Amino acid sequence: MADDLALREQLVAAVRELDRLGLNRGSTGNASVRGSALDGCWITPTGMGAEAGVDDLVWLGDDGGVRGAWQPSSEAPFHRAVYAARADLHAVVHVHSVHATALACLRRPLPAFHYMVAVAGGDSVPCVPYHLFGSEALSQAVAQAFGGRHACLLANHGLVAGGTSLAHAMSVALEIESLCEAYLAALAAGEPALLSRDEMAAVIARFKTYRAARR
Ligand SMILES: [Zn+2]
Repeated sequence: MADDLALREQLVAAVRELDRLGLNRGSTGNASVRGSALDGCWITPTGMGAEAGVDDLVWLGDDGGVRGAWQPSSEAPFHRAVYAARADLHAVVHVHSVHATALACLRRPLPAFHYMVAVAGGDSVPCVPYHLFGSEALSQAVAQAFGGRHACLLANHGLVAGGTSLAHAMSVALEIESLCEAYLAALAAGEPALLSRDEMAAVIARFKTYRAARR
């Protein structure tokens, strides 16, 4: 497992960045990453936040094996469920960030009020029903939401974002949190206009070909 240390270093850096950005406070969130072998993932330990180092991370093998000094995050079941559902995703970030959580507590999805909602792969970010953290029911609900998106809100809980890399999952989480903040501000001022299905389809098509381009 030659790339293990590099993956673990990425994960530790990502968790510290989530803390620095204010998406995570204390030890509430968690994150995981997996390599090209798709045989399991590294996940943050339970009850630990930005202080976690590379040796504190826990390996969850797809064969059921668990390796590490600490217990894995109590929310490990939905990380496993996302990876089982989506071979294209290599990282999952979960946060209780203020604005995404506030919208999730209204049990409302994030609709197509802004074109950037398409960063999650569709014309909305769904809000899955409330289930106990760590439960099989929550895992199934998250896996179902990830069938058509790579982010969802968890009712009365928070946000889950996935990506093809840790950097991608982080950027989706940050974008959705910012969009939830803007949506709540728009809702407080009136009734936001929503983009049509065709308008969002055009954005999604554009995103598929969009790449950072240096001139
Ligand atoms: Zn949580």
